[in-house]
Amino acid sequence: MLPDSQGAIQVRPAAIEIAGPSIRAVHELDNVPGSDNVPGSDNVPGSDDARRSDSAAYSELIRTLPGHVIDFGSRLLTPAFVNAHTHLALVALRGVDPGDARHSLVEDFFFHFEERITAPDVRAFARMGAYESLLSGVGLVWDHYYSGLAICDALRDVGLCGVVAPTLQDQAGPGRQAWEDQLEATETIARDSSLANQGVFSAVGPHATDTVSADLFRRAGDVAERLHLPLHMHLSQSIEEYEHSLEQYGVSPVTWLRSLDVLDRPPSMLFAHALFCSQSDLELLDARSTLVSCPHSQMVFAFPAPVHRWVQARIPWVVATDCAASNDSMNLLKELRTLNGYGASQVPWSDAYQKFFATPDVKSARSAWRLRTEQTNQFSAEALLAKVLDVPGRLHPAFVAGVIEPGALANVVVWDTNHPNIWPATDPGSIFVRANATAAIHAMYVAGQEIGRAGAFCESITGSSEYREAREEAGERLVRLAG
Ligand SMILES: [Zn+2]
Repeated sequence: MLPDSQGAIQVRPAAIEIAGPSIRAVHELDNVPGSDNVPGSDNVPGSDDARRSDSAAYSELIRTLPGHVIDFGSRLLTPAFVNAHTHLALVALRGVDPGDARHSLVEDFFFHFEERITAPDVRAFARMGAYESLLSGVGLVWDHYYSGLAICDALRDVGLCGVVAPTLQDQAGPGRQAWEDQLEATETIARDSSLANQGVFSAVGPHATDTVSADLFRRAGDVAERLHLPLHMHLSQSIEEYEHSLEQYGVSPVTWLRSLDVLDRPPSMLFAHALFCSQSDLELLDARSTLVSCPHSQMVFAFPAPVHRWVQARIPWVVATDCAASNDSMNLLKELRTLNGYGASQVPWSDAYQKFFATPDVKSARSAWRLRTEQTNQFSAEALLAKVLDVPGRLHPAFVAGVIEPGALANVVVWDTNHPNIWPATDPGSIFVRANATAAIHAMYVAGQEIGRAGAFCESITGSSEYREAREEAGERLVRLAG
């Protein structure tokens, strides 16, 4: 799956040359021997000599490519997905009932747990979140959490790429005693070339406007500008944050940040949730700002972000899972499926539908249907797919991900297009936006390294001794914390 000259996705035959953590070259082919180039038409394994021998150009390419050549036949290769907002370690809270919906999930629930966890706990729990991410076809996460160096260790343990934003707090929250360490960790990660060679980078991570002072925001802005790092934070994510800003500063969180000049300094900014961002707030954000929609998580801790307003305001946005504690899943593709139905799901709540419901007739039914027609298909499958591929993959100045092109991180998923979940696999948009595709992962490469074993992707990971040891350690730590 390659971009054409306009950036649109196309499926074309190609060989991908990998060197170190990156793609060195993409060799496009006229044809894959033995295939009519319809994904799923002839997915026999690459050991089938007959399929490989009937194209002179193909044979010549295979002969001249340096190093070890793996033939995936006519299987579909895509970039691995990019999950633009995660807290991997909070997978430990999956399935815990947040209880009374009037309470804040962040302040009353997460903070209570997070006051007690240590850096080794964070590493152990984040490994589990990283494994789940890989099994969902995610090759890179934008993670925001306490003990940032422990998150880096977890990513390296498991082989997942990430942009780690060590959480900065000084006003409230479990990290308020550690902001100096975490600001230092941000710099340490950014300067570590061995981490970069494994696809691990850093971003500057103030937590939110109700937990971070003006002084710490300014320090964060200094580091972002000096090291050319993106800013990654929550913004207007809760009613508590919005009220705090109005009470403390007399203005909205966005207006307050703008007054600090923080928004002019980083090369790019990633703002999670933006639920209490008004039209005038959106007008204060410039082209370096990207908003994050996490539909399932937002429906648990608050409500879905008004992405149609973001589209109207021409603000770039991406799609992420947030943490497993408020989502119960790190499967990024499920979020695309939800957004695919975003427009239609507005209809039952509309005045037009309420009118039909109270006084049904053809006119009011037509009126509700007209709304459905207007609201549906707001986003093409291709546009949604871009929000988990190259849009978040191009937000960091230090690397490119989410695309198969020379220089990008070699994060590639190989799909078994004969798998019943995605067969006949004629349209990538349909596969990844609407189908339940992740069971059809045949093989995966992250930062140039193979993850698991081709043909037994899931079993080779969950059946490995590394996974078993990671799970046992995480389980023991969870029991200890609960005790
Ligand atoms: Zn978050």
